[in-house]
Amino acid sequence: NDFSEANLRSLLLDNVTKSGYTRPTPVQKYSIPIILGKRDLMSCAQTGSGKTAAFLLPILHSILESGCESNMGACPQTPQAVIVAPTRELAIQIKDEARKFSQGSMLKCVVAYGGTSTGYQLGTLSRGCHVLIATPGRLNDFVEKGKVSFENVRFLVLDEADRMLDMGFMPAVEKIVTSGSMPPKGERQTLMFSATFPGEIQAAANDFLVNYVFLTV
Ligand code: AMP
Repeated sequence: NDFSEANLRSLLLDNVTKSGYTRPTPVQKYSIPIILGKRDLMSCAQTGSGKTAAFLLPILHSILESGCESNMGACPQTPQAVIVAPTRELAIQIKDEARKFSQGSMLKCVVAYGGTSTGYQLGTLSRGCHVLIATPGRLNDFVEKGKVSFENVRFLVLDEADRMLDMGFMPAVEKIVTSGSMPPKGERQTLMFSATFPGEIQAAANDFLVNYVFLTV
């Protein structure tokens, strides 16, 4: 399996193999080492490029590596990774991939999106969450109500940033990024993915990222 070059934990490599992935796609091949190298990343990658695994695998690796596999008691139960996505469909898809890749570990991946009652989502959140995948409006709602803390966030991912821009979500994204408990840039790792790179996305990248690697595949 060509993924083994990436030095990911064996649980992740096993789950990658079970998923039927034999070779990393270009965005995976280049993003995984950049993210494991703790750099911020602005990646121009289309849907279908394999961008989801490109950010999920190194994030899950880092969370497992920090002791959340061997010593769950020492592992914070609030999100260490927050992944913001424009639509409910995309958020669910990312959550499904995250659960697939982390299967067999104790990691909890939770999804939150609007258009449905908050009760179930808040219930799963309160039972512990390591990776939170959410749409911008619902996430802000939870932040404003004090239902989610970002104090343990190590990774912030803005997926399909250009779509979030087109859908008018940039003010909501900005609010999440600058929310009180969110570690400032440089103290978290920020990863942005976008199919296109218009001026507003360049400006957001300059705002949200530090000394970032720019990757086009
Ligand atoms: P994404 O661009 O992340 O939405 O992924 C597009 C599709 O490609 C999804 O159905 C993935 O499950 C699949 N995929 C991602 N990476 C690989 C890979 N390395 N080999 C085969 N399929 C993949």
